[in-house]
Amino acid sequence: MTKNHLDKYLFIEFKYGLVDPHPIIKSGANKLMVAASSKDPDFEFLNTVEKAGLSVGLCTNAYQGECLADPASLEELKSRVEHLVKQNPNEIWLDYLRFKSRCIVKGEEPIDTHKPCKFCKNIKREDIVTDYYGQVRKLIPNSIKFGLFAVAFIDEDYPVYKLKTGLNYSRIKEHVDIISPMLYHRMMDKPINYIGKYVAYLREIGYKEIIPIIQVKDMPDELPDNYTEDEIKQAYEEAVRPPSSGVAFFSWDHAVEEGKTEIIKKLFENQ
Ligand SMILES: [Zn+2]
Repeated sequence: MTKNHLDKYLFIEFKYGLVDPHPIIKSGANKLMVAASSKDPDFEFLNTVEKAGLSVGLCTNAYQGECLADPASLEELKSRVEHLVKQNPNEIWLDYLRFKSRCIVKGEEPIDTHKPCKFCKNIKREDIVTDYYGQVRKLIPNSIKFGLFAVAFIDEDYPVYKLKTGLNYSRIKEHVDIISPMLYHRMMDKPINYIGKYVAYLREIGYKEIIPIIQVKDMPDELPDNYTEDEIKQAYEEAVRPPSSGVAFFSWDHAVEEGKTEIIKKLFENQ
């Protein structure tokens, strides 16, 4: 890895159906996070981007049920991961492997999580979540990297959040290769420098490969997009600062939607 090597990811949602792979190939990205949760990604698309030399990571939500501690959730998680392993991607990324909770959103209660039920009362949630990460790790061969999308909270700021989501990043790190904290700073109502602060925090905990994923437009969708090119540039520069390993944009589909693909290309080309 050279000094200037950065992993430049685009998240592909297939939000509006089929996605044209050619502008992606020309964007300067070297890696993709491809949504593979509700259905398999378009085969032609994958074939084209892989031939062009892009690394493909498949992304899935961990489960759909109500409670992570329900044995059915573990079965669903395992079968989803096994299905992705069969497709032999470069990376497998898991989202929502935690007790049900929203990502941190401006103006919303940050700890609005799953309420205790018959499956999870009297258990320590972080024990379940950590154990599940370990079980998933065993299903994934070493040739495939295992990553997680992380809710970007700092324990000291939200001590109760670890308790309710079951996310103890210090324990989970033993089971994953790579972590992508969801640093949608405008959605979280955080300053731009929270991105770098959070990457440094994960490094301090012991994560080696950290890919902050940043927003392309204002989210959720119902908000008008007031996120300017200048601020995207600042967020990007903040995201790629060491000890970060690179950056991911969420998402390419949003960039197409808002006419911002050239902004991404310019940033990728310059650094
Ligand atoms: Zn429960």
